[in-house]
Amino acid sequence: MVEHGKLGKTGNLGKAVDYRELAALAINHYEQMLDPDYHYLPYFFAKIGSDESFAWHSEWDFGDAVGRFLDASILCGEIIGKRIGREAEEHMKEALRWMQSDSDGLFYRMSNEWGVPAGANMFDQRSVFLGLLSWHKFDQDVEALVRMERMLKGMRAIAVERDDYICYPFETYVPGMKVPEQIYTEHGFIVEPTHYGGGVFILPLAIYYERTGDPLAEEMLEKLTNFVVYHSKVFAEDGSFWSQGRYPDDGHFHSKMGAVAGILRYANLKQERTLIDWCQKVYNWACSMGSTYGWFPEGTGLNGEEPVDEKYRWLPGVIQHSETCCTTDMIHAAIYLAKNGNAACWDDADRFANTLVASQVRDISWAKTVTDKEDTKTRTYRDVPERYRGGFTGRMNPNDFSNAGKVDTMACCCAAGGRGLHLVWDNATTWEGDRLYVNIWLNKTSEDVRMEYGVPEEGVLCVTPLRAGDIWIRLPGWLTADEVKCRAPRGLAASVKENYLVVQGLSAGETVALTFAPKLVWRNESVAGKPYEGAWIGNRLFDVKPHGVMPMYKALVIEPEEEL
Ligand SMILES: [Zn+2]
Repeated sequence: MVEHGKLGKTGNLGKAVDYRELAALAINHYEQMLDPDYHYLPYFFAKIGSDESFAWHSEWDFGDAVGRFLDASILCGEIIGKRIGREAEEHMKEALRWMQSDSDGLFYRMSNEWGVPAGANMFDQRSVFLGLLSWHKFDQDVEALVRMERMLKGMRAIAVERDDYICYPFETYVPGMKVPEQIYTEHGFIVEPTHYGGGVFILPLAIYYERTGDPLAEEMLEKLTNFVVYHSKVFAEDGSFWSQGRYPDDGHFHSKMGAVAGILRYANLKQERTLIDWCQKVYNWACSMGSTYGWFPEGTGLNGEEPVDEKYRWLPGVIQHSETCCTTDMIHAAIYLAKNGNAACWDDADRFANTLVASQVRDISWAKTVTDKEDTKTRTYRDVPERYRGGFTGRMNPNDFSNAGKVDTMACCCAAGGRGLHLVWDNATTWEGDRLYVNIWLNKTSEDVRMEYGVPEEGVLCVTPLRAGDIWIRLPGWLTADEVKCRAPRGLAASVKENYLVVQGLSAGETVALTFAPKLVWRNESVAGKPYEGAWIGNRLFDVKPHGVMPMYKALVIEPEEEL
C-alpha cells in the first residue's frame, strides 16, 4: 500500500463517489446560470479566477446551451430519483418554443445587441434535439415529439442530396440563402463536416429513430452516415482525424467523436458489423490521443503537415487541454462498443468517468467573487463562483484541474458532464429478461436495482436486484475471480462464466455481496506526448503526478466532510 497521506487533505482517499450528489450539484449549476433578463438563456462562457470571476453571453447560448442544459438537468434528475430542476427546465422549454420557427421547424439564433447573426446554426440543431429527446422521454410530453417531427422535416428540406448521401454545406442556414453548387474544394468539404455538415446530428437522430422507428429518420441516418464515413474526408483510412488546417474546427475532437458515437448507435440498431468495426477503429485511434482516465484533448493538431489555410498554423500536435464534451463522447462510444462484443470497453467507460468527477467544480474557496461591478446585458459578475458550483470545467490539463492556472470554461462541457454521469449510471446495470447484468461497479439506486460500491473506503460491492432473477456481475479487468469472495443469500452457489460471476434464482430484494482487497497502485502512462503517473484502486483514479497548478488529487478525492 502507498501512504494515503500524500493524496487527500485529511490523509486518506476520501469517500466513495455518489452519483446522486454529483448530479444534484450539477442541477444547481444549470438553474443558477440562466439569465432571467434574456429568455433564461445560459451564459455560455465563464472565467473563474482568484482575481475575478464572471460569465458572459455568446451565440452558443441559444440552441446549443439551452438544449444541452435542458437535457442534462433532466438526466441528472433521473439519477437522483427526484426532478429537482423542474422550474428551470420549464424556463428552458419556453426558450426552445421561442427559438423554433413556425415556418420551417428549425431552431434559430436571434439577432440582438451581442452581435449574434440570426440563423439556424447546424450544431445548435443537434443540441436542441438532445434536449427535446429527454423532454419527450422523461416527461412523456407529446409537445416535444411534435417539435422534433417539425424540426426533422425542416432539416430534411434544407439538406443537399448527392448520390447516396445528404449533407449541409453551410454553418448556419438562413431562409432564402443561396446554397453553393460546388460543395467540395480540393482539400475536402467546404465546411467542417462533423461540426456543421451533419455529423453531430446523427447521434440524436439515432436515439430518435431507436425510439420512434420514423422512416424519415432512418433515411436521414443512412444518408448522413454515408456522407461522414464515405465522402466527407474527415477520417483517414487508419481511423485518425488529424487536423489539416482547413477550418477552425478541423481536428475538433468533440464533433468527431460525437459523430462517431451517433454512427455507432445507428450501426448498433442495424447490427451493421462493417460500421461497428469502423467506429472501433476510430475509437482506438482517439484513445491514443488521450488518457486511460478520460482526459481527451479539445483538438488534434497538424501531424507534421503544412496547414491548408495559413490561419490555422497555430495548431500544435495534440492540444494540451481537454473538453469534458470529449470525455462524454468517449464514454458513449465505449458503452456501445461494449454492448457489441468488446466487453473490455466497459472498463474504458468506467475509467473515463474519473474525468467527470475531476472536472466538476466543487471547491470554490479559491475563487474571487466580484462585488463592486454591476451586471451588464452580456456579462454577469453576481456570485459567479457559487453559481458555477456543480458545473464541469473544460480545458483541464492531464494533471491539472486548470489550464496551467487558468479556469476558463464553457456551458457545453458543463452539460456534457451531467449527460456523461447519466450514461455511466444508466448503463452500469442492464436487465435482459430476468437476468440482471452488472457492467460497471458504482453506487446506484433505481427502481429495479440497488448497488453499493465501497472503494476507496472498503473493498465491497453489494448488489440487490429489486426483481426476481439471475445476476451476472462482470469481473472488471483489474480483478480476477480468485481475488473475490462472494456471499450469496440462502447458500445459493456462485459460478464464473466468461468473466461474469453468476448467481441464479435470487428473489427480489436479496443481496449478493463481493469483497476484495482494495489495492492502491501507481501506473505510468503517456498523455498527449508527456509522461504521467496515476494512483489507482481498480478503475478509480485518485491522483496524477507530477502535480499541475491545481493538482488532480484535489479534484478526484471527495473528502467525507465535503458538502455536496
Ligand atoms: Zn465542451
